[in-house]
Amino acid sequence: MVHTMLRFGKGWHELGPIRPPSEGKDRSLLIRVTRNCPWNRCEFCRTYKNKTYSLRNVEEIKADIDTVKALAGEIKATSWRLGFRGALRQEVVTTFINENPALYSRAYNDPGTVERRLESLANVVHWLSSGARTVFLQDANAPQIRTDDLVEILHYLKENFSTIERITSYARSKTIARKSLGDLQRLHEAGLSRLHIGLESGCDEVLAYIKKGTTAAEHIIAGKKTREAGITLSEYYMPGLGGKKWSKKHALESARVLNEIDPDFIRLRTLVPRRGTPLYDRIQAGEFEPLTEDEVVEEIALFVEHLDCSAYLTSDQMCNLLWEVEGQLPQDKPAILKTINDYLRKPLHERLKLQLERRLSSYLFIAGHLNQGLAAGVEAAWDAVNRGSSDAPAKVQKVLDTIKPAFI
Ligand code: SF4
Repeated sequence: MVHTMLRFGKGWHELGPIRPPSEGKDRSLLIRVTRNCPWNRCEFCRTYKNKTYSLRNVEEIKADIDTVKALAGEIKATSWRLGFRGALRQEVVTTFINENPALYSRAYNDPGTVERRLESLANVVHWLSSGARTVFLQDANAPQIRTDDLVEILHYLKENFSTIERITSYARSKTIARKSLGDLQRLHEAGLSRLHIGLESGCDEVLAYIKKGTTAAEHIIAGKKTREAGITLSEYYMPGLGGKKWSKKHALESARVLNEIDPDFIRLRTLVPRRGTPLYDRIQAGEFEPLTEDEVVEEIALFVEHLDCSAYLTSDQMCNLLWEVEGQLPQDKPAILKTINDYLRKPLHERLKLQLERRLSSYLFIAGHLNQGLAAGVEAAWDAVNRGSSDAPAKVQKVLDTIKPAFI
């Protein structure tokens, strides 16, 4: 057992709660550089609520990278030994776990450690199975740490894994705007290839209202500097965040800011008010009027009409209703607008049907089933939609209001 523990360090590397869906699709290795969010005040966000922000020191992060290296080496060796020539199969992982019972047996007094080890192992296995090419630095704002420290971590990753092609991170515009261009260039040279920035809005009233802690001007400075440093940039726009009050301005100002930045990617993240957030409470108190599904789509149409940049626009998250709104700007703009307008031109009952179908499929993906009360509501909504009844919109809305707060 002592031998096993030395080979794998503590047996797991620390993981934070989230990463962008694109990093999940690419099966990125997750390396936690900081814990939680240093700002933690955005009114729509509950990811790190009640969690304290902290830095991790460089030695701690390097020890995690050492653990990943040891795990990866042993898993590959197991594959060769079983005759799979380094390929990852279920048998390889099962044999690896069976041969290291000290790491993966549930201790009665510390069940959490086994979960952490299995999550860490799953992350390493997925990463290896995709060629070990991409890494995502967690949590909400990794560039917050000293540039020298981040450069050291990036070098250490590259030195230890020659297969790495891309290293990415979330970042706040405020932090990036404060960094010098020289610092960002150093980070890029050391291997930081992409930043994911939550623009949310380019409208100052909306940014102030939802307490983003950043202005439109800072978004522009941060975005332009990131591009100038050679770092690929993903910006996240949140349709619906201005509610009924600022919808038009939110769309127009966000398009203006993104046109100035000209990011590589614009990712749509429709507002889904979640229980436990201040914005949800404001809605319940009647202080914030959220948009309907159709109003959100109309807002996206206005936003896209005013985009004049060369980003790739994508709807890569279940919070969006129209997943097919996607394409390379500027050439795909007419096709994107056609997709949106085709939806808006559908008869009401067809739009309601699509809303129910899509939102329910996302909900079932997360929750697995409908409870009895919800199932009855869904049945009543379907019935009203199919009959073309005048109360169909209200019944569909009631279902949506119940299931959407559960979205991730
Ligand atoms: S900066 Fe990001 S992670 Fe932090 S509170 Fe705002 S949205 Fe959430």
